[in-house]
Amino acid sequence: MISSFIPPHRILMGPGPSDVSQRVLDALARPTIGHLDPMFVELMDEIKGLLQYAFQTENALTLPISAPGSAGMEACFVNLISPGDKVIVAQNGVFGGRMKENVERCGATAIMVEDNWGEAVNVDKVALAFEQNPDANTLAFVHAETSTGALSDAQALCALASENNALSIVDAVTSLGGVALKVDEWGADAVYSGTQKCLSCVPGISPVTFSHRAVDHIQNRKTRVQSWFLDMQLVMGYWGANTKRAYHHTAPVNNLYALHESLLMLQNEGLEQAHLRHKRNHEALVTGLEAMGLSMAVAADVRLPQLNAVNIPEGVDDAAVRARLLNEFDLEIGAGLGALAGKTWRIGLMGESSCEKNVETCLSALKTVLA
Ligand SMILES: *Cc1c(COP(=O)(O)O)cnc(C)c1O
Repeated sequence: MISSFIPPHRILMGPGPSDVSQRVLDALARPTIGHLDPMFVELMDEIKGLLQYAFQTENALTLPISAPGSAGMEACFVNLISPGDKVIVAQNGVFGGRMKENVERCGATAIMVEDNWGEAVNVDKVALAFEQNPDANTLAFVHAETSTGALSDAQALCALASENNALSIVDAVTSLGGVALKVDEWGADAVYSGTQKCLSCVPGISPVTFSHRAVDHIQNRKTRVQSWFLDMQLVMGYWGANTKRAYHHTAPVNNLYALHESLLMLQNEGLEQAHLRHKRNHEALVTGLEAMGLSMAVAADVRLPQLNAVNIPEGVDDAAVRARLLNEFDLEIGAGLGALAGKTWRIGLMGESSCEKNVETCLSALKTVLA
């Protein structure tokens, strides 16, 4: 007999999803209303405003895509890239590789600039790639590489793109809410994120924002966007300002209640306070891990506070440790991904998960399991 699914109470300290507060879960459980209900349209406008705050932008085309971060990624690529384009893709982990896939599936050429996993994107190497490929019209990179725990200099990379008359596509899935991300000040053109990392909302939505330059570029495309669902010209008819909202697809109504609540919590805390909290808890975790004799996989100056990659000590059974943490302590940490599988653990301190109590719980559980 199949009965209702009752999930266990886990502490989520992996690469996402992160802990979702009761306040956000309560919002999710409120009554479903129609997606063209005037009250819902008001909610949509508030979400746009809250997202503009989170992204630090005045971009009119700022909205949540009704699908996870990967769809936000795809939305940026399919709208900005046309067949025959040349795109410089900086890769220093798993997600840069997905960018390459996206470029190629758009019928464009990816010029790869590769850095070691665990290191930041090398800005000088990207500058050289622009010199060697003056016809490249887009630069794509990952701000916070969740697969390795490294932070890249998004400000310098966006500046480099605009100096070279190229648009920038920025993966901010893990950076938004955890570290500074100033879309307007840095001149980023297309930025996508996710709800389940530092926003601590339920998974399944992808906030995106497009600059005026990006919107012009989309409106002047010579070919149709290959994806009907993600074609921003069509999505704008539903989410756009000053338009009569036209049906495009049914918005995930309750998920958007949850997103509204989590963005409101971020605004109430304040972005800078949220960044400071992530930094403080990260420092406490590193201090504790090093006191246990463990070492970090990423150099201190480019470590992500929200995603801590730890070297797995020689002779320790990676999977067995994670299984014991889950079964005995209800604690989820992440495994290494791609080239780092079996070599690192990824301890997330994202959004709600970034709190003193979680740091203490994780350190004492690891101590017990490794003893
Ligand atoms: C999680 C993540 C994604 C993908 O988001 P999904 O919601 O899993 O589709 C993309 N880029 C980065 C850097 C991520 O951390």
